[in-house]
Amino acid sequence: MAVSMAFMQEELDRMKREGLYGNIRTLTGPQGARIEIDGKRYLNLCSNNYLGLANDPRVCRRAKEIIDRYGVGPGAVRTIAGTMDIHLELERKLARFKGTEAAITVQSGFCGNLAVMPTVTGEGDLIFSDALNHASIIDACRLSKAKTLRYEHSNIDDLRAKLKEHASAPGRRLIVTDGVFSMDGDIAKLPEIVAAAEEFGAMVAVDDAHGEGVLGRGGRGIVDHFGLHGRVDIEIGTMSKAFGVVGGIVAGSATLVDFLRQKARPNLFSSAMTVPDVAANMAAIEIMEESDELVRKLWDNGRYLKAEMKKHGFDVGSSETPITPVIVGEAQTAKDFSAALFERGVFATAIVFPTVPKGTARIRVMVSAAHSREDLDEGVALFASVGRELGIVG
Ligand SMILES: *Cc1c(COP(=O)(O)O)cnc(C)c1O
Repeated sequence: MAVSMAFMQEELDRMKREGLYGNIRTLTGPQGARIEIDGKRYLNLCSNNYLGLANDPRVCRRAKEIIDRYGVGPGAVRTIAGTMDIHLELERKLARFKGTEAAITVQSGFCGNLAVMPTVTGEGDLIFSDALNHASIIDACRLSKAKTLRYEHSNIDDLRAKLKEHASAPGRRLIVTDGVFSMDGDIAKLPEIVAAAEEFGAMVAVDDAHGEGVLGRGGRGIVDHFGLHGRVDIEIGTMSKAFGVVGGIVAGSATLVDFLRQKARPNLFSSAMTVPDVAANMAAIEIMEESDELVRKLWDNGRYLKAEMKKHGFDVGSSETPITPVIVGEAQTAKDFSAALFERGVFATAIVFPTVPKGTARIRVMVSAAHSREDLDEGVALFASVGRELGIVG
């Protein structure tokens, strides 16, 4: 390796020494409540496949069917190669599902944020960003030439103080927040954020990645959950979590979407979603629109799991959603915990600093509608036995 590249191996070695090197497991089959890793079956408590749609036969069938009619790829960026009607159809479905005038799709939720922040703000503007916002929001803010001001996590007083402090500054203002914070499962105080934005003349963008398919009527998301239709300027989202596929969403007014189609760089310089992804997502939306059964099952499972974990003495934090953090304290404890679970057939990853604050290392348990009561009982029993062995619970 060239001398100038040596820093990479040095950094990797350092990460390994400090226990920061991530060991990525290889799945040899589909996502689901049970997964296969190296030929062995595991109870899966890690994925964001909230509704179990990643391997739903109805979703898979649609992806297969569409390939016969449209092939697999979009050819080039939409502004040059043209757009397929199926992408527009998916966007109409998304807008209807989310209750907005319009929506645009991009390649991923990450790209959704990159499509918004640098496009709606620029030099001389201000972005007010929650301290615990997702990395893709942080990167998108960096990509905008606007100045980003971090407010304390879900602290509306701090947000208002910062808005007030800059009330006479020229330029546009944008408040951006995660809808559901993924490590703790708490929900953004969107009604208060919207009220502050209205008072101070700021735009609001919410990244509903963990809210779509989870919050609101039939999983219609955080805006529906709070009944804020028409008052949230920009909704960003992903089809990689509850939808079970992949793809990014930006939803809002027809003008916003028209503006992004013309100006957002992930639309101008990166090709559209693949054909099977588009079809699979359409099937996923139709399943959600047809019935809220999967969403109810997800919440039932979440409530049940939290109650059972608490009975065994675990600290499950203050989640308001099916996301269930089992907080164990030190990073090494969380890693030992995860390794012991894995030995017993449970896949549940440890989440440590810097993803969460020091001293709050955890196993983040992700339940889904695909889990049965037996799956959850088995998981809880194994958590309890490992917890006792490690002296975390009595
Ligand atoms: C997962 C997530 C993303 C990234 O979505 P992808 O579609 O996987 O790129 C963006 N924002 C938030 C808040 C997320 O939780």
